[in-house]
Parts: sequence; C-alpha cells; structure tokens
Amino acid sequence: MAVGKGLAEGMAVDLLPEWIGDRIVVSLADDRVRRNRMKSYLPANGIAAARFFDASAPGSADVRALYDDDKVRRYPSCFRCNRLRCANDACNNVLIPPQVANFASFLRVWQHICETQLITLVMEDDICVHPWFEAGMAWLDAGLAKGRIDFSPDLPRLIRLGWALNDDHEQAGSFQLREITRMSNCMHILTPAYAQKMLERFEGVDTTSDIYLHKNAARPGETMTLFPPLASELSWSTGQIPSRIHPKEKHSVYLRSIGAEKDAQENDRLIATHFKHIYYRPLLITGHPRSGTGYAAGLCQQLGLDVGHENDGQDGVSSWMMAVEADENPWAGHPVAKSRKAFHCDLMIQLVRDPRTAIPSIIRENRHAPKSLAFRRTHILSHTGVDIVENRTEMETACLSLCLWAGIIRLQHPGFVSRLEDKPEILSRFLERSGYPVKKVTRFDTTRINAGKRYQGCVYPKPDLTGADWSGLTIDVVELLDDYCKTYGYARITPMNEDAGRT
Ligand SMILES: [Zn+2]
Repeated sequence: MAVGKGLAEGMAVDLLPEWIGDRIVVSLADDRVRRNRMKSYLPANGIAAARFFDASAPGSADVRALYDDDKVRRYPSCFRCNRLRCANDACNNVLIPPQVANFASFLRVWQHICETQLITLVMEDDICVHPWFEAGMAWLDAGLAKGRIDFSPDLPRLIRLGWALNDDHEQAGSFQLREITRMSNCMHILTPAYAQKMLERFEGVDTTSDIYLHKNAARPGETMTLFPPLASELSWSTGQIPSRIHPKEKHSVYLRSIGAEKDAQENDRLIATHFKHIYYRPLLITGHPRSGTGYAAGLCQQLGLDVGHENDGQDGVSSWMMAVEADENPWAGHPVAKSRKAFHCDLMIQLVRDPRTAIPSIIRENRHAPKSLAFRRTHILSHTGVDIVENRTEMETACLSLCLWAGIIRLQHPGFVSRLEDKPEILSRFLERSGYPVKKVTRFDTTRINAGKRYQGCVYPKPDLTGADWSGLTIDVVELLDDYCKTYGYARITPMNEDAGRT
C-alpha cells in the first residue's frame, strides 16, 4: 500500500467538510524537502489527517511497464498540437519520463480511490492555500447540504480547487462553480465513480495527467471548477520549490534572491541539459569534423535552402556533433543544434572525405582542438568500445576517429552519402529528386569553408604524410581504412602509391 500514515497528529482544526472521506498528497517517497514542508503546512492550514501517496518515479516498475506495453505516446508529432513542428520552438512537445511517471502516479491514485470508495481530496506536494480556503470549503459544504451541488459517490464528479497562480486567484466576490477547464492537479476532489471513469477511459499516456484528468477524459456535466480557486502551487508559480518535471529558470532566480548561488548554478546546469522539446527540421547533414559540414551547409544555401552550420536553419542543420546523442553539443550555436536527442528530421545526409586528405586535417584538428577530440573519443568509446587515443599514434587516432565515426553514422541509415570530392551538382540533383525546392545554380562557389581553419586564432600547418607513415599503421586500423575506402568508393590506400603520388 502506497498510502502512508497521517502527516501530523493532534491537529486542532480541520476545515474540510466531513463528506471528504480521504485526503492524499501525491509525493515522491524520497522528496524529504517537500514532505517536511507539507507535514507542518497542511495541519497549520486546516487540512488534517492527510496522508502521503507514494508517487512513481521514472524508474518505477509501473512506469517501465507503460513503456514496455507501448502505452506511451512518442514523438514524431507534438502530443499537444499534433504537428511535427509547433508554433513555439520552446514548448514541451514530447512526453518525458517524469511526465509519464506523474501519469502513472495518478493511475494508481484512481485505483486507490476505487478501492476505498471514498470521496477524496487529492493534492500535490507543493501546494499553498489562499486566505479564503476556509470560506470556500464552507461554501461547498453548504452547497452540498442544500442540494445545489450533487456530489454523490456513485456519480462521476470532479471539483477543481487549485491551479498555477494567475488572475483567477485575484477575483474577489462570491464563490461560484463553473464548467471551465483548469489544470487542477494540485488540488481537486473527486468521487470514486469519477476515478472509475478515469481508469475505464484510459487507453494510454498520450498527454500529461492534468490534461487527461481535467480535459481530455472529462465529459460534459461531470466536472466543476471553483472560482476563486482555493490553492495554487509553488514550483510553477513562484519557483520557490524546484519542479520535479521541468527545471525552471524561476527557481534559479529564487535561489539567487536568497543568496544560494551554488544551488542556482546547479539548477542552471539542469536547465541546460534538460530537454522537453524535439526540434523538427527536414534535413540533417553530418559527418566527421573536417569532412565538410560547413561546406555542405554553404552549398545548400546556394541552392536556396536554409541550412545552418552548427546553427539553426528552417530547412535543416549541418553539424558533425549531431552524429551522436550527446546531452549537450559543445559548439552549438542554437538550441536546435544542441542535442541529437532532441532533433527529428526526414532526411539524414552523411558527408565523407578521402582519408588521404582527411587524415592530415584531422591530425591537425586533434592537436589543436582537444575538446573536439575528447568529444569524439567519449562517444566512439561508448558506441564501439574502442579507445581511439590510448596506446595509439596520432595518425592511428585520426584514422580510427574517421572510420569509426562514419560507422556510427552508417548505422543510422543515412538517406544519402555525399563525398567532399564530388561535384556539387550530385548533391543538388539528389535534393531536387527528394522534393526539396532547390534553385538552379549555374556555377557553385566551391571555396572550402574552414579550409584554412584557425585554432585559437592561429593557422597551423597540416602534417605531410609519407608512405612510411601509412605503412606504419597497425593491421586493425588498415582494415578499417580499407573498409571505409571500399564503402565510400575511394581507392584503397597502398603506402607505395602514396609516396609515388607526392610531389
Ligand atoms: Zn505543439
């Protein structure tokens, strides 16, 4: 049983009418801060004998079961507006595990109420009640007594009592019940029959628990909303309590206002790596660093497509870091390029480059951009188990990086592979055939973007690789290079020929 003992004993005043048979606070079992606050806050504000109801966490068995049984709506398409791309790029368009856990908690709350058959006051653990709470409860009680409100346990009925702070809380005057929807998870009363309906109508988690309970699953005549509301909550409204779903800037502001700079920084970090929105752009172009992501973005722009390089574009993004699902790409110029985890596209284009020219360029990149190398090393290790740095020469590191990074992309089934050495017309024709509105370009500007790349303001020479350098590679690296050349249509590298080709 997930319902705990009473929050506090010896409560002097209980302001709730006696027809409210049970009072529960949905709360994560390990959230000591919120629980401690509620233990003193509720009795002090006239809510006696409330009990904690242990909420589900993202790792709980019931949450995992929802995912395993394919009961959770996934992106593509926003669960709120049903579109691939929402009007607002910052909105929450994908259900994240804490939201699914919250829904799972409410499913268990409704089961619990079906078992007890008691009219129940349900609260979240970050509520605050307003000064007219007592008057509001008395008004409801009188309404029931006089028969103005029909709230028999066998009728599916819900009364919404509290929601995020807004103008509603400032309305003065007499109480009234209206059939207006408010997202009232933080405080509401429901009959066992309403809880039963919520379970019967449940098909899957296709929205948040509050939208389901208060809007999608509600039928006309079943729900009422009390104005002015008796309660609001402290995480969304004021930022005083950290949100358990989406970390909020408001909370950082609050922490700074009380001088808790370190905690504010920790909250800032949570916000930076939290994702709640999947960006949709038609195109993703990716490859290894120095394989022409900037060049390809430039070609697309010449074709009239808005493709950003490590940055946003209405038609797409070109970024080597988007090959892997990092929490945060270090050089993203816009949130859209920040993480592959939060990006959805129709078409992925892979860029490749002849190792003969790519490897010297990558060696230079690895020498002068250690963060770029560290990023690839981490992700290649987690994908393939190969450490590209330890016990390797810098040339082997560069070869392993090029080949294994390409392999990671290949496994994602790119729709097209573009070789840096190919004529731009090939990419142009492919995009045109795929339905992209490309402009006719008679002559492409093929100046290589970043060709003389500066590292901290300096241009460094590329190493000049000899046949001896190529013949010094270990067999595993040679095999990977052979495979890379074969896959992407480059001539196999034979050390003798590399010397012969040099001037
Ligand atoms: Zn949307």
